[in-house]
Amino acid sequence: MAKTTPRLFVDQPLAEGREVTLAPEQSHYLGTVLRSAPGDAVDVFNSQDGAFLAHVAEAAKKKMVLRVERLTSAVTPPPDIDYLFAPLKHSRLDYLVQKATELGARRLRPVITARTIAERVNLDRMRANVVEAAEQCNLVFVPEVLEPVSLNAALREWDKTRALIYCDEVADKIGPLDGLAKVKLPAAILVGPEGGFTVEERAMLKALPYVTAISLGPRIMRADTAAVAVLALVQAALGDWRKP
Ligand code: SAM
Repeated sequence: MAKTTPRLFVDQPLAEGREVTLAPEQSHYLGTVLRSAPGDAVDVFNSQDGAFLAHVAEAAKKKMVLRVERLTSAVTPPPDIDYLFAPLKHSRLDYLVQKATELGARRLRPVITARTIAERVNLDRMRANVVEAAEQCNLVFVPEVLEPVSLNAALREWDKTRALIYCDEVADKIGPLDGLAKVKLPAAILVGPEGGFTVEERAMLKALPYVTAISLGPRIMRADTAAVAVLALVQAALGDWRKP
């Protein structure tokens, strides 16, 4: 069976003719798990330089050196859409982060709201999930994972040129596409915690001129489901799912 070419995110400058030494865990993965040997092909990419075809130059258990040969794709950043979400418990947060990456969020930011359960967020774990999703989905871009912030602080510092689309399960039941019709990129999406937003948070959000509340229909979805639903809607209405 033909060997598939491994694909790795390399957080170092990449350029034709350059040699890069992989991080220990990536060397272990290539050398020990995949048993890659000198001459084997590896696809590498990052969010600054693009994607390249590389070959294994040196292979040792803990140290793999790759020779970068040819640019295969320029960086392809997704539309300027930030994804803000109340953190969830581990496995569901992993899922949410992977899906937000696959669906083309450009930045991910945990937002602590009044009813947020999981206040402590493991950013390294989130970043690992984002990289894994980008590697598996042939993205030539890795969304940035920003530090958690409270909802109040996020709104205090808000860049008013960025629209904020917030998913509100008690919003007027006008079709979400109608709600999105008046929104332009750059934008951010906000999904609440399992307990939903408080009345005070809703009032604070609704009072802001750059905020659009949308309903995702009559059924209350779990937050990670709402994440997938709203990202799909926004990509279809405002993003790169539309005909160019
Ligand atoms: N506790 C809330 C309740 O019981 O009314 C439900 C919160 S829901 C599980 C988590 C988040 O997903 C909500 O804060 C909202 O942002 C989003 N969400 C879920 N279903 C939605 C819907 N039908 N319309 C808009 N947003 C929805």
